[in-house]
Amino acid sequence: MAGVHAKTITSILYRDFLLLMAPHRALLAAAKFLCYLQTLSLDNRPARWALETSKQLPKGWYATLRRDLLLLDIDVLTWDYRLNLALQVEKALWIKQHVELELCLTWSRMLVWRHHPFPLHLAIPPKPALYLSLPRYLARQCARLRTSAHHLAIEHYRVGNRRRACHLRICQYCDANEVEDEYHALVTCRDTQAIRDQFNVPPRLIMKRSLTIPDRAAAEFVAAIFRHVDKRFEP
Ligand SMILES: [Zn+2]
Repeated sequence: MAGVHAKTITSILYRDFLLLMAPHRALLAAAKFLCYLQTLSLDNRPARWALETSKQLPKGWYATLRRDLLLLDIDVLTWDYRLNLALQVEKALWIKQHVELELCLTWSRMLVWRHHPFPLHLAIPPKPALYLSLPRYLARQCARLRTSAHHLAIEHYRVGNRRRACHLRICQYCDANEVEDEYHALVTCRDTQAIRDQFNVPPRLIMKRSLTIPDRAAAEFVAAIFRHVDKRFEP
């Protein structure tokens, strides 16, 4: 089975399991702690006095935090603490992680490059990817889609002796003469039309929320497509 770069898979897993990378989590925790300290009163809370002291130190905890947050274009010296600092930091970190891990390499290849009218901004996901909570046989097929671990020509002809240039990885099961990627198999291929009719899932639904499989019906549709594709490779 073909696959994508380990970096891509890592980024997908971080995204789907709702993980910020460890240094980012540490920075977020520090920002939350600073928010907490700012809410304390100066009159009778030693922790707040300690904060005011460390603000004077050139290399203290506060100085380090300020330097790290400046990289996110957030300056704690001028920050208005009526706004939620931690939330802004978390948003900025999600975007930073998104760029660092080059999330846009595979599943999003078709979504971002073909369909997205403007550059994708990664929002803070409210919860882990839905497919992770589905029954195992469905979750497995969705994970295959997310990580490009499937037999479609775009991946099948990526590796080893089989390798062909991208534009030559044509679908051999219909006469459209298109590259057989995820979009082709799910949305346009004549060979999988029967499955689309059967499930009545508008493929747009899967595409719309750029990196998610929106519901169980969509997951069952994806599973049916992959079962169909796998059958071509059974002896
Ligand atoms: Zn086709």
